[in-house]
Order: sequence, then C-alpha cells, then structure tokens
Amino acid sequence: MTAASPALLDLTLPELTEWMVGLGFPKFRAGQVYTWLMKGKRPGEMNNVPLALREALAQNAHVGGVTICETLESPKDGTRKYLYELEDGNILEGVLLRYHHGNTLCVSTQVGCRMGCAFCASTGDGLIRNLTPGEILGQVIAVNADLGGGRSITNLVLMGSGEPLDNYDNTLKFIRLASCGDGLGISQRNISLSTCGLVERIDQLAQEGLHITLCISLHSALDEKRRQIMPIARKWTVAQTVNAARAYAQATGRRVIFEYALTNGINDTCQDADALATALKGLPSHVNVIPLNAADGSTLSASEHVEAFLKMLEDRGVSATRRRTLGEDIEGACGQLRRRRLQERAEKIPE
Ligand code: SF4
Repeated sequence: MTAASPALLDLTLPELTEWMVGLGFPKFRAGQVYTWLMKGKRPGEMNNVPLALREALAQNAHVGGVTICETLESPKDGTRKYLYELEDGNILEGVLLRYHHGNTLCVSTQVGCRMGCAFCASTGDGLIRNLTPGEILGQVIAVNADLGGGRSITNLVLMGSGEPLDNYDNTLKFIRLASCGDGLGISQRNISLSTCGLVERIDQLAQEGLHITLCISLHSALDEKRRQIMPIARKWTVAQTVNAARAYAQATGRRVIFEYALTNGINDTCQDADALATALKGLPSHVNVIPLNAADGSTLSASEHVEAFLKMLEDRGVSATRRRTLGEDIEGACGQLRRRRLQERAEKIPE
C-alpha cells in the first residue's frame, strides 16, 4: 500500500494495519477501525477509538465508498433500487433482490461501460471510469447499513453497470475483500460474475483459485446474430467464448451460467435453439432465459416466445429456466434509473 492518502475501503485488514502502524498507532486499533468501516461508519462515528486516531484517519485518508442518494422499493415484490453517489459526484445504481434463500445485491464495477451492447442503458455514454475495489465494496456496505446494520446481503451478482472483467484487478480485489472473513465474509460460492465474454480474461479468471460462479451473456449462439447486438462478438466467436467457459468449468469444477435475453426476431427461433444446444453440448452449464428488458430508445424488443423457446431447449437436452424478473414496477433495465437522474441534473444546469 503506497498511496499517501488512501481510500480506507480499498484496503485489506493487513494493509490497513500496516498503514496505521506507520502513523504510529498500535496494531489492534486497525481491527476496531476495520469493523466500523464494514458497518458503513465514518471516522467521526468510530466511538471506541481515541479521538487522536479518528482525527488522523480524517486528515490522512478518505473512506472511498458510496452514499445512497435515492431508494425505490417495489410494493409488489420488495425489490429495492438504489442510486448511489460516489465521492467525485458520479452516480451509480444498484438493485437488491429478495429471494427466499437470502438477499442478493447486484453491484456495479464501472461508471458506464465501453462494451456497447445494443440493449443496454449503461453503455450510452461509454466508459466514464473504473470503480475502485472500495467503491464496489461500498455498495454492499451501504445497503447492509440501509437494511439495519448487520450482514443482510448474502449473495452478490456483479451484473450492474460495467464489464467486471474490463476492470479486472479492482474486481478481483473486491471479490477477495467481500469474501474475506475479516470483512463481510460473503461466501465466494454466493458470488456470480457476469461478463459479456472477454475470453482472455475468462482464461485468467479460471486460474485465480476462486469459487465464484461465472455467468456469460451469450444472447445468441450464432456469430452473425451475436455480432448484431454485442460488439464483443466481433472479437471473439461463440466457439472461443464457449471454449473459455469449458476451461473455466474444468479448472473450478463449477457449472457456467449463460444469460440469454430473448429478443423478438433475433434469437428466439428453432435455429437459435439448435445452435445453442450444439454450442453447449457436454459443458456443465445452465441457461437463464429472460425476455429482453431493453433500454429506452433501443430498437430491440422482448420476445413473447419464452415458454416455447424453453421447451425447444428442453427437447434438445439443454438445462434452462426462465429467470424471475423482479422490480419491473420500479424502473426497468439496468442503468435506466441512473440515466433519469443524470437527465434531471442536466435539466437543472442553467444554459
Ligand atoms: S450489458 Fe454489460 S457489458 Fe454490455 S454494455 Fe451493458 S454493462 Fe456493458
């Protein structure tokens, strides 16, 4: 740890300890500070540490997380959408999904995204910047605090704005921070990372010794069609993408999840089901089929043939289910809430 004025949430407990010892404080104080940080507390609120330490933290470091600036809750299913503000004023959104097996938080790894998927609201302005590990962790800490201060979040999906593998080092550090017993202690088996298919990074991820679930946004097993909706498909073919998934499954012993947003006239025919079944043959995998929830202004629309497509997959021996959609009544696809907030901000700026 070399930063002169570190973001505290970017640090592991050993890194925080080293930094605080360098400032002249005893080691055991780092454990106290770390416990407060994991509860979303600022230095001024750490009331079992000496005033001198609180002042030193405030003067020599910043927390580096997020602040919740808006919450919307679905009266239908309890899904909550959050708008967060970062220390530099950037805006992010997150979604809390409530399942019978626990609370799942969808976290973002970048502000914006440069991957350019045709249906996605996060990509409109391109990539603004990568999030630091502490800013990703800060989303979990903020929502835990909002839910009453315990460790209410049991599952994480890295499926908010941004391509996690395009912010590789920070994403990996976040996973280690979130799953570490010193901190939030979220089991890696309860963490899913969703990628649009950065093949070289999937290969790298397979060698990290993690136990997380890999989800790949495939959306079509036909190269020509996939290229129409996902620019990444111009770099990596379906075969290369699925081969990387096979290597991941082999290295980790974990099945791979494929996301498939069913889109009218694009990927919902027999030919598409055939291609998917052929591509995934022999691979321990599962397909999540969901009707497309396109961003405002997209020319793409949801297919009405979800059940029929699932039947086609079943007939071809592909493990697939319809993914439950939650929170539809409180703003649709990822990134839409943020776009609305940015528009409101722009409207307030006088010409
Ligand atoms: S779907 Fe994911 S990878 Fe594609 S543009 Fe949106 S955030 Fe980026």
